[in-house]
Amino acid sequence: MVRTKIKYSDGNDYSSLKINSHLHPEYDECVCCGSNELTITGQADICHDCGYVYT
Ligand SMILES: [Zn+2]
Repeated sequence: MVRTKIKYSDGNDYSSLKINSHLHPEYDECVCCGSNELTITGQADICHDCGYVYT
């Protein structure tokens, strides 16, 4: 599926990061839009649907 380029809320480009929220069931939904297309990192949780980045 082609993902349209979205703007991430902290201004960085995370579009190349892989979705790994399935490995982190405690973080499996974006608090902003409810998407489960998230990348969880040590620094931030990144939603690839709405672009919300939360730390
Ligand atoms: Zn979201």
